[in-house]
Amino acid sequence: MLCATRPAYRGGSRRRRRVDPAARAGSGTRAPFAYAVRTRAGVGPDDAANAPGTPVNPIALIGAGPSGLAGARALSRAGIPFIGFEAGPDVGGLWNIDNPRSTMYESAHLISSRTTTEFAEFPMDSTADYPGHRELHRYFREYADAYGLREHIRFDTRVTAVEPVDGDATGASGWRVTAVDADGTCTTTEHPAVILANGTLAEPNVPSFRGEFAGELMHTSAYKSPKVFEGKRVLIIGAGNSGCDIAVDAVHHAASVDLSVRRGYYFVPRYLFGRPSDTLNQGRPLPARLKQFVDTRVLRAFTGDPVRFGFPKPDYRIYESHPIVNTLILNHLGQGDLRVVGDIDRFDGSTVRFADGSAADYDLVVLATGYRLDYPFVERAHLNWSQAAPELYLNVFPPSFNGLFVLGMVEASGIGWQGRYEQAELIAAYLAAARDVPDAASRFRVAAAKPWPDLTGGYRYLGLDRMSYYVNKDAYRRTVKRLLRTLPAPAASVTPVASAAPTASVAPATDARKAGTRA
Ligand SMILES: Cc1cc2nc3c(=O)[nH]c(=O)nc-3n(C[C@H](O)[C@H](O)[C@H](O)COP(=O)(O)OP(=O)(O)OC[C@H]3O[C@@H](n4cnc5c(N)ncnc54)[C@H](O)[C@@H]3O)c2cc1C
Repeated sequence: MLCATRPAYRGGSRRRRRVDPAARAGSGTRAPFAYAVRTRAGVGPDDAANAPGTPVNPIALIGAGPSGLAGARALSRAGIPFIGFEAGPDVGGLWNIDNPRSTMYESAHLISSRTTTEFAEFPMDSTADYPGHRELHRYFREYADAYGLREHIRFDTRVTAVEPVDGDATGASGWRVTAVDADGTCTTTEHPAVILANGTLAEPNVPSFRGEFAGELMHTSAYKSPKVFEGKRVLIIGAGNSGCDIAVDAVHHAASVDLSVRRGYYFVPRYLFGRPSDTLNQGRPLPARLKQFVDTRVLRAFTGDPVRFGFPKPDYRIYESHPIVNTLILNHLGQGDLRVVGDIDRFDGSTVRFADGSAADYDLVVLATGYRLDYPFVERAHLNWSQAAPELYLNVFPPSFNGLFVLGMVEASGIGWQGRYEQAELIAAYLAAARDVPDAASRFRVAAAKPWPDLTGGYRYLGLDRMSYYVNKDAYRRTVKRLLRTLPAPAASVTPVASAAPTASVAPATDARKAGTRA
């Protein structure tokens, strides 16, 4: 497909932008791609280009899910022009079940509770502790509207490539973003920096199994409605949060349901002592070992021992992997509605053979085997990939500070959208500092060159691919807030550039929203 260069932005996206080597060396020669020069690694000078009021091209922001919206809001508040690219038709990311890329299913609800998950400045207008996906989609629509974020986003526009301008991998010349609209028109624009908020739960992780299965095989990413189970013998492989949700759906429709697991899990009830369980002990985190000791005993008292229901005993302590917030699964096991089976050995026609020598026949196998990180439009080297995930300072900044930023690549029990918003605030504060107070941005980069802070909170996470970007929410949020304090508060003033991307309103819709919210 041929891509036209889109002449959308002042600052000269049509003109060939070339950073003068002298400017790069800090001679003071003005670089046409001013902002990018400011965001490159370990660089300070080029003050002429950085002078307040210098027109800058908008930042590109990929994705308008919860993380992308958090990014849009934080950039708006910092007065940083941006343009959003969203492959789907609306905001809300995977919470919009109509987004072709959504991995949501009809029965899905929050698994973290409303008050621990919502954006702090925009409480959810709901009485449910664990609202369903439609209510959440509405919430994100309201959030986008309240802060005027929508008009900065190009919907139905999928980014297909993010490449350094002039092949300059330092990002000093900015980044070229290629995107395809709904009608197939392909455009290329140039940006000083790009924020990647395209989600972490979209690309199915499909393990390979020996043999071939003759029945129907699907990944949970394709699962929408329990009608698919009607009258079938179902095997669900994996008992993560989605696997357990879907197993609970299946028992009401399927002829039989088996759940294949490799290791044991900790099952946390949605309510403890009459309150959403994740609202207990908020703000006063116990040391890891003490929390593990206490919570293991509390769970034993409330949910009993999952080994009784056929699960293996966990070979790790609680919180060293993501806990399963679902005790309905235990109820159904107790009622004999489904059974736990062992690890798969191989497929053999419609028979599945298990590692313990047993076997059973199935019509449908559902792979609840999770997702893998995927940033398909950008070369892995630019994101410092290592094994299963990019290795990024605070899960956000490539160590080279090349002008790419990853937003939402964080997995943690209870980090919520506020945790993602704090990531966005940090990116916005860094970009604002790079624009207004280059010394502060430079000090931030120097700190990132030192040993990185421990984000585990003292928990020893399982060495699994899916845990490679896992953090402890308290340690993570504390660190992000601390680093935010090392950057000046953004001045929220910049010369607007892109008529296609006017600076967003920063009207404080917050108060009105809060007034109408239950305590
Ligand atoms: C069933 C389920 C339950 C969950 N429950 C919780 C919960 O209780 N609490 C919690 O905190 N989290 C939960 N999550 C995790 C969920 O990932 C986050 O809540 C949140 O959706 C992450 O937001 P995001 O914006 O990072 O990603 P997404 O919501 O995935 O949004 C990414 C957006 O980027 C767009 N995009 C992708 N590629 C491109 C491209 N190339 N060009 C342009 N746009 C692109 C997509 O269309 C999408 O709109 C749950 C997830 C699932 C599947």
